[in-house]
Amino acid sequence: MKLCWFDEMRLGLVEQETVHDVTEALAAIPQRTYPFPHTDMLVATLGDVRARIETIAPSAPKRALKDVSMLSPVANPGKLVAAPVNYQAHLDEAIADTATFSRSHVRRIQETGLFLKAPSSLIGAGRPIEIAHADRRTDHEVELAVIVGRECRNVSRADALSYVAGYSIGLDITIRGPEERSLRKSLDTYSVLGPWMVTADAFGDPSGREMRLEVDGELRQQANTRDLIMDVGELMEFASSFYTLQPGDIIFTGTPEGVGPILPGETITASIEGIGTMQVAVVAREG
Ligand code: MN
Repeated sequence: MKLCWFDEMRLGLVEQETVHDVTEALAAIPQRTYPFPHTDMLVATLGDVRARIETIAPSAPKRALKDVSMLSPVANPGKLVAAPVNYQAHLDEAIADTATFSRSHVRRIQETGLFLKAPSSLIGAGRPIEIAHADRRTDHEVELAVIVGRECRNVSRADALSYVAGYSIGLDITIRGPEERSLRKSLDTYSVLGPWMVTADAFGDPSGREMRLEVDGELRQQANTRDLIMDVGELMEFASSFYTLQPGDIIFTGTPEGVGPILPGETITASIEGIGTMQVAVVAREG
């Protein structure tokens, strides 16, 4: 199942070139009062919501996929967990390029660990990336994004995938420089998730997936998730040994080689096998 949020927070079921407006299925989510949990309530109750979607989808209003504007497929994540250098070829390019990559950031993931991006940086494919600090180099990073489905702590690599709700394409937009990653990667609009979430049962094994990223039609990144240094299960084992993973938490699994600068006016096209393709515009931040 491919699920999306679109336009003014409508819930959509994507089938080929059609989006079924299944917003009515949100009635399956229990109502909460303040204070709200640091989880995504749709993802946390996905089983009940899915049952409702399957019931109502055949008679739900239809929209053409090309006519809707995509929001992040996770509306309210508690954490954006991200892997630093997690492909050997990207580590090699970072080691070679001393002008761009700060030496303190060029280490193996087992030594660096994970970092967090601000949830406020998250957008969907329908909104542009707004480049700030125009005097600095800002890069694209395409990554397989994992959406946690059930709470887990100290989960083993072998069990981890059973705690996944689904997968999306992630863009981890990054200002290069010496500061902490959490600062350089947490600007508003610097985390893109989309174009939808493919549920884990439909997606299958996350390894062996081809991914690519183009900027204005020029191929910049092309890789396969089989080359992840720490695979999805290992990342979840590692992360959950430090903090509890909650429904709706998003794990950016790291970018392969080929990262490069993006500029206002350009368009990013990113695709991952088994998910689809998304186009994201790049603009200059105003004010
Ligand atoms: Mn990254």
